[in-house]
Amino acid sequence: MPSRKHLKHNQPVETLDYKALFTAVNKAAMISLTDKNGDIIYTNPKFTEVSKYTMQELLGQNHRILKSGLMPQKVYKDLWKTISSGQTWRGDLLNKSKTGKLYWVDTTIVPIMGRDKKPEKYLSVRILITHKKIEEQKSQIQQEQLISSLEELELQQKNYKRQILETQKFFLAVENSGEHIIITDAEGIVLYANSAAEKMTGYSSKEMIGTKAGTLWGGLMESSFYRKLWHTIKVEKKLFTGEITNIRKSGQKYIAQATIAPVLNDKNEVKFFIGTERDITIEKDIDKAKTEFVSLASHQLRTPLSAINWFSEMLLNGDVGDLSAAQKEYVEEIYNANQRMVKLINALLNVSRLELGTFSFNSKPFNIARCIKDTVKDLEFICSKHDQTLNVKLEQTLPKITFDPQYFSMIIQNLLSNASKYTPPKGKIALTITRAKSGSKVADFKLPGAGVLISVSDTGYGIPKNQQHKIFSKMFRADNVRDKDTDGTGLGLYILKSIIDQGNGNIWFTSKVKEGTTFYVYLPLKTISRVGAKKLSVE
Ligand code: ADP
Repeated sequence: MPSRKHLKHNQPVETLDYKALFTAVNKAAMISLTDKNGDIIYTNPKFTEVSKYTMQELLGQNHRILKSGLMPQKVYKDLWKTISSGQTWRGDLLNKSKTGKLYWVDTTIVPIMGRDKKPEKYLSVRILITHKKIEEQKSQIQQEQLISSLEELELQQKNYKRQILETQKFFLAVENSGEHIIITDAEGIVLYANSAAEKMTGYSSKEMIGTKAGTLWGGLMESSFYRKLWHTIKVEKKLFTGEITNIRKSGQKYIAQATIAPVLNDKNEVKFFIGTERDITIEKDIDKAKTEFVSLASHQLRTPLSAINWFSEMLLNGDVGDLSAAQKEYVEEIYNANQRMVKLINALLNVSRLELGTFSFNSKPFNIARCIKDTVKDLEFICSKHDQTLNVKLEQTLPKITFDPQYFSMIIQNLLSNASKYTPPKGKIALTITRAKSGSKVADFKLPGAGVLISVSDTGYGIPKNQQHKIFSKMFRADNVRDKDTDGTGLGLYILKSIIDQGNGNIWFTSKVKEGTTFYVYLPLKTISRVGAKKLSVE
């Protein structure tokens, strides 16, 4: 063991064995000596080993032969400036061997001064540091990667935080919403129910979670309703909206305006369903009361209107003596106004029966051509009075459909009389009835099954685009026709649509202002009878 004393003191440089020192350096480093121009005078074996040049190749060559050309020029400028002024230069250089291999060397160049105090020769010592450099670069790359992944992580964390905050806000809004909201999985199993859902159904969210949506508080509608609902949201992956009658835990029924929206993933697969319900029981009750009032009032009005009709007809027929021309004109006015009133009262009665569900639907198979014969005849008369042409085309072999024949002719009558009312003189009106092929497209509508397709077209005023969505609403009349036909009630299409819906059919149209309108009606082969209290009146 060396003594403490021995370890403590560094050996003074003068006492070193120079020969040993040189041997060590000679083994470890590339040593070269050049003249003042950089031409090589001496190299050691380590130099030839690394540079791959032989001693003969190197002697007399300029030192520039080692340059890789990859160092910035500034480094060499600085190097020459330093050593030519008699100072030692030290730095890392990237050199190139004879074989083209690059290597890093920690280089020290010491000028050896001549008598004129100017550098006469240069001694350079190069230590190979390629590994160290590569490690340095690697660690720099690693560090850069680490920093960028840390930055990414920070960004992700920020995003997560924001998302969590947003989700929290969303859930807070959902939880406190006045509307019943539930979230289910793709099979309809309840995952979440808000407090309004608890209040509306009477079940706790614990009781609802894990059950199939609606099994606790639903099930009152016909099975075809639920089939249609599931088809819309699961197969078509579309939003469903509709009125549903449900039942609370207490056994009390309620009517809800429901929407169910499928939430899809990137692959267009259903992940969740979000269902909302708004309790409209009270609104429905009020509506029902209003409808009942209209129904009652209309009934009561029929008797005096019949009396006016009856007596004005007697007056016009001269049953109580001849009338003067002026008197006749006035009584005719009374008679016509009364007729309009009867029409309106009948339409209102029809609406109230449809809304109260007290109308009957007597479906039976019938011959279409025979059924509409009289209607078409009446309309031909009206069209010729208005100087319009009516073209009727029925496919030769129309299928027999099972529908209420009176409602069938009511549909044709209403559509044709509208076409005539809303078409100027010289206009053309056409009625076509053809066999409906399941799946074929008619004016952007895909026919859902076999049956018949009715189309009524005209070259009339058309329906303004911005009002087309309201055309089947109760008492709606478009701006462009109100002054042309002042007698309209805006109830005809509403009644037709209700009947067609009840019969599982469809009604739609295409229209262009000042060019004309075509209404289409699809009726299925079979419609089930519904025997209610009263038959709609057919005019
Ligand atoms: P009404 O004809 O008594 O006003 P409807 O319910 O039959 O009531 O029609 C509602 C509205 O639809 C009409 O007022 C009119 O604006 C529009 N409409 C219906 N049929 C046509 C048609 N063939 N051409 C242009 N507009 C029409």
